[in-house]
Amino acid sequence: METKILSTDEKDINEAGKIIRNGGLVAFPTETVYGLGASALDAFAAKKIYAAKGRPSDNPLIVHICDKNQIEKIAAEIPPSAKTVIDKFMPGPITVILKKKPCIPDDVTAGLDTAAIRFPSHETAQRLIRAAGVPIAAPSANLSGKPSPTKAKHVINDMTGRIDAVIDGGSCAVGVESTIIDFTGEKPVILRPGGVTYEDLKNAGIEAEIDKNILRSIAADEAPKCPGMKYKHYAPNAEVTVVEGEITAVRRKIKELLKGVNGKIAGVMTMDGADYDNAVILSVGSGNKEYAQNLFAALREFDELGAEVVFAEFCDDGGYGLAVKNRLYKAAAQRVIHVGGNE
Ligand code: AMP
Ligand code: MG
Repeated sequence: METKILSTDEKDINEAGKIIRNGGLVAFPTETVYGLGASALDAFAAKKIYAAKGRPSDNPLIVHICDKNQIEKIAAEIPPSAKTVIDKFMPGPITVILKKKPCIPDDVTAGLDTAAIRFPSHETAQRLIRAAGVPIAAPSANLSGKPSPTKAKHVINDMTGRIDAVIDGGSCAVGVESTIIDFTGEKPVILRPGGVTYEDLKNAGIEAEIDKNILRSIAADEAPKCPGMKYKHYAPNAEVTVVEGEITAVRRKIKELLKGVNGKIAGVMTMDGADYDNAVILSVGSGNKEYAQNLFAALREFDELGAEVVFAEFCDDGGYGLAVKNRLYKAAAQRVIHVGGNE
């Protein structure tokens, strides 16, 4: 299949909308990462997403909308706390899990009786959903297991020949996926940390629990609430190790680790550009917000540079830190070294 590269011009957006309406696949930019979209009302189109990504069939898709009125057409129930989140944070980088109505096929929700609903703030994403005339089911537009795409070139690398079109809308501002919050239990539960932080929710009066699986690995026979938690994620070719703690101690530890790489090509993901000898160094900027923006692109760039081992600096969990840490731990398959403070 030929994969068209489309722009954000009106003509191209209309063409992309038509492809989706007719059951095809289009990758598109959002404020979080690029999504791989199909009509959320078409079971056959949803199946194509799983095939194109190589995604396990029990990992459901997020339904993207462009108007809050669409929520009541998809959700069977909207509890008051969910309504607060919808009012305060949509459109934006948050996904709510609600009991679903039958119009959303089982192939979109992987057989669950709930649907994940998101209203992206990215203008191109909104225009595409409007042009399609249907809600759009979309996971991230990467091959399953690879880092999520934050630029059109990442999608093109993974998906050429597998999908109908990619809309090139530049780099994604948030850089990590949406916060997923489940409203189907007694208390709201954060299933995935993301662009809306725990602190943002707390300030809006939402006392959410953080699912215990966010920072640990899950056994093959477990059934987590967010099925995506179970799978290998964000993994570049290199073996990644997170080195976490106070920054001076982190850098001392990485320098020591670099001496033991035995001739392998080593990379360091650094915050605010530290100097390391004998390593490919990529800076992810200063602070957790920039770390989130640059993390996935850096993981892909280490692959291009041939890194075999990568050490990632990490300091603190505040704000976007929890989302960064969750993605880093997965990229590192839980290889994490904690170092003390000022020893
Ligand atoms: P992605 O954004 O590509 O990582 O894929 C969507 C994520 O949303 C996956 O981690 C899914 O497990 C999660 N998800 C989608 N629908 C549901 C749902 N109904 N309940 C819980 N998690 C969901
Ligand atoms: Mg994904």
